[in-house]
Amino acid sequence: MSKAKKKKEKQLKHLNTRKILDELAFGLTVPTAEPAKQYFYMNLCKQYLARKKQEAGKEFTFCIRTFGCQMNAKDSEKLKGILLEIGYTQIDSEDADFVLYNTCTVRENANLKVYGHLGYLQNLKQKNPDKLIALCGCMMQEEHVVKKIKESYRFVDIVFGTHNIYLLSELLWKRFYSGKMVVDIWDKAQQIVEDLPSCRDYSFKSGVNIMYGCNNFCSYCIVPYVRGRERSRKPEDIIAEVKKLADEGVVEVMLLGQNVNSYGKTLEQPISFAELLKMVEEVDGIKRIRFMTPHPKDLSEELIQVMKYSKKICRQMHLPLQSGSTAILKDMNRRYTKEQYLALVERIKQEIPDVSLSTDIIVGYPGETEEDFQDTIDVVRKVQYDSAFTFIYSKRTGTPAAAQENQVPDDVVKERFSRLLQEISLASAACLKKHLGKTMEVLVEEMSSEDGIVTGRLSNNTLVHFAGDRTLIGKTVNVKLEEDKGFYYIGTQIN
Ligand code: SF4
Repeated sequence: MSKAKKKKEKQLKHLNTRKILDELAFGLTVPTAEPAKQYFYMNLCKQYLARKKQEAGKEFTFCIRTFGCQMNAKDSEKLKGILLEIGYTQIDSEDADFVLYNTCTVRENANLKVYGHLGYLQNLKQKNPDKLIALCGCMMQEEHVVKKIKESYRFVDIVFGTHNIYLLSELLWKRFYSGKMVVDIWDKAQQIVEDLPSCRDYSFKSGVNIMYGCNNFCSYCIVPYVRGRERSRKPEDIIAEVKKLADEGVVEVMLLGQNVNSYGKTLEQPISFAELLKMVEEVDGIKRIRFMTPHPKDLSEELIQVMKYSKKICRQMHLPLQSGSTAILKDMNRRYTKEQYLALVERIKQEIPDVSLSTDIIVGYPGETEEDFQDTIDVVRKVQYDSAFTFIYSKRTGTPAAAQENQVPDDVVKERFSRLLQEISLASAACLKKHLGKTMEVLVEEMSSEDGIVTGRLSNNTLVHFAGDRTLIGKTVNVKLEEDKGFYYIGTQIN
């Protein structure tokens, strides 16, 4: 078929689509308030999709690929909820009729991964012209990325960011109507929209956003530029969500924020994160409370005391160090010194002796000397982390650190990185020995890859494998920790 004929046919098909959409929306008024406005578009898209299903005699499927952190995973649960509400069926394959990438940009390779995947999606779209491809999340908040998508990935249908995740159905409607790529990126958030559909990945545990954005501007980090300024959800909205989750059988919640210590500062009636924790503790049905991430610069004594006396807050704290060198920490704009960090850890361990500590460490930050690196090793040896996320410094366009001349040579960074991994695994192995032989409570999370074996987590977040079946998932049971395998235990259920 000639190109011109193909184009003509496509235009005719789109005119027909337009006619159907106009009929569906005829005489209706678009609500102005949220989330009513989104439910309005979800309903319109639902009616249109129902017609397409009937015509095609098949279900229409979607697949969401989530890159990056737990904040993104939580956003993807909302995106999933919206697409299910519209009537799409979820599948775990990019052959789906609607593929959505919720992107991350915290490191360069996250961007490269998405571009690589897009090439593959283009081939699939050539086989299924009705296929829709959407991109959202942190990477789309970068101007140079959106420019590249518009120029080099014109087969992408919808591009939106981090501040307007909840607009998916409205943007989908616009895509159906215009037949062209829809790009909607906001440089800052306008409002926190509550009560949207959401579909959790786990029946027994859930992340709960308590705030969005970050004001810390650590000099290597792109998050403040792509997630915007800090804004906290109202405590009553958070508690309402936790109560709803508990009613639905959730026993563990993870309170999420880039820096949870800043929670409440933007509220009309500010409350502290520690006060919010006490409110969550009151919710019946919730057995375990976790939170991520507290910044060491403003972790309060109040938080330590609330955690100490809590029956539900898990004995685990993630306390990003990033570097052990005070000079590097200053350059990173982390606003604490090596000594202050160590004093804080000592205070936490003194008040909560059974707490497990994990951290984030960057190796190869611009200007890092062997002496700076030795300071990092010194902190690792002194703190004895149960686990650590270790990263090689990644230059992020637009961050102050990216402009620095004194980038550390790759071979030096790699050599330091492997020394750090050794230190970390020595410390983790030593931590694991502490509880060997004890009987401790495990929340069972899933079947392990081995038949007849389930996997769960202790309050301190350590993995435990033991004999059991699917009926245990979501339950807390007591397990005797009989063997340690370096970063997890093998055990036997006691009751
Ligand atoms: S606290 Fe620092 S590292 Fe964490 S998200 Fe904010 S700017 Fe990034």
